[in-house]
Amino acid sequence: MLDNTNITFWSGLRTIGGTIISVEHGMDRILFDFGELFQTQRLFSKGKKIRANRHTSDLLKLQALPAIEGIYGRRALHDIPLVPFEESTQQTAVCISHLHLDHIGSIMHLAPELPLYMTDEGKELYAALYELKLPGSERLPDRIQGVKPGETVKIGEAIEVTFVGVDHDIIGAAGMLVKTPDVKVAYTGDLRFHGMNRQKSMAFVEKVKQFEPDLLITEGTALREDSELVPLLDYPDDLRQEEQVGSEVAAHLSKTDGAAFFNWYERDVMRLKILIEAAQAAGRQVVLEPESAYLARRFHIEHPFLVYMPYDLSNEQYIWESRLPNVEWISKDTLSQHAAMYFIENRFERLFELLDFPLEHSLYIHSNGTPLGPFDPDYEKLLSFLDSIGCQKIDIFCSGHATANHLKWLVDEINASYVVPLHSFHPEKLQPAHGTRLLPEPNETFRFRKGMLQPE
Ligand SMILES: [Zn+2]
Ligand SMILES: [Zn+2]
Repeated sequence: MLDNTNITFWSGLRTIGGTIISVEHGMDRILFDFGELFQTQRLFSKGKKIRANRHTSDLLKLQALPAIEGIYGRRALHDIPLVPFEESTQQTAVCISHLHLDHIGSIMHLAPELPLYMTDEGKELYAALYELKLPGSERLPDRIQGVKPGETVKIGEAIEVTFVGVDHDIIGAAGMLVKTPDVKVAYTGDLRFHGMNRQKSMAFVEKVKQFEPDLLITEGTALREDSELVPLLDYPDDLRQEEQVGSEVAAHLSKTDGAAFFNWYERDVMRLKILIEAAQAAGRQVVLEPESAYLARRFHIEHPFLVYMPYDLSNEQYIWESRLPNVEWISKDTLSQHAAMYFIENRFERLFELLDFPLEHSLYIHSNGTPLGPFDPDYEKLLSFLDSIGCQKIDIFCSGHATANHLKWLVDEINASYVVPLHSFHPEKLQPAHGTRLLPEPNETFRFRKGMLQPE
């Protein structure tokens, strides 16, 4: 069955995240990524309560979830006129590139029986997040199918998907190669070329080149309005690489004699190792919150750390002590009395913990923890809180996303017939040297006809 592949770009085209794309051939279909749109959070701020049993249908009405047939359960749809999963004759699977909320944050709305695929490492991380009840893990992990890097899974009769590892600021991230009888599509997910595992992204590019995709769908996070792109894997001085994060953190810690705190994104295990090493270099010990300690143990971080019990978990002491049998605990009193000896984790939800420490000459190192930046409504609250207690905030992070030049290098190197940049505020800035660049509108469908990708 040639000329029978439809590709629909549902969302995430001019935003960072919320990418949802479907590739369909006959009765077979895959969707890739099913993240949360940031607009969703804005709808719920300031006391507007989610109606638990109407959550999915309410979001569909607000267009904060895409109106896709056959993926939502009958009970979740209520009066929404979409074919429920139970009545769909299509064979559908959802593939997840990685576990950032903008790629996975809406999976709770999918019918529970809908097959979900991700890398084995992603699945392991998911299981840990589920156990800790962290956001984005609301679905039972045993319904998720793990895929080895390089492994190909078949969806229905006609679609094959291969997960290929990439370097991003989270473990288990992958891009995808999607093959139907008439079309080959490559999707980068989120990736970078300046992290510690950049060779993974380089190998991904090689794999995609061999695959010779008709269509390349690439992230474009770093594209700016004033980007002047040169197709180069360059490393200018103002590009902070992952290796530099450690030395800069150590330098700041060495300069202060006050309490020092940090906020990291608890899915980036590599960053945790770097922060522990930086603390050691500055003569301090890292003190983790119990959730992070659990992840560190589960992902075999051998670096030394202490653990403290924040106020909100004090009723669960027994649970945490049995969950973390071989860690060294430290009391908050000891921490507070000798604050300058430690480098203490503090996630945004626990900002009030800072009030228990001496705050003179204190530092708060924001290292890609949430809220990530000004586009998150909570970011302003973080700044005002730290300001009000006189704690100096310093940003030391390394982006998980390819620079604008690296993106240009990637699309020229792969040289696909069609390129769709998305996951970007300025996708129009990425123009491939050859091939046709498309900027689809939300919900727009394209069909391949005789090798040409045309709007449906
Ligand atoms: Zn993303
Ligand atoms: Zn990401």
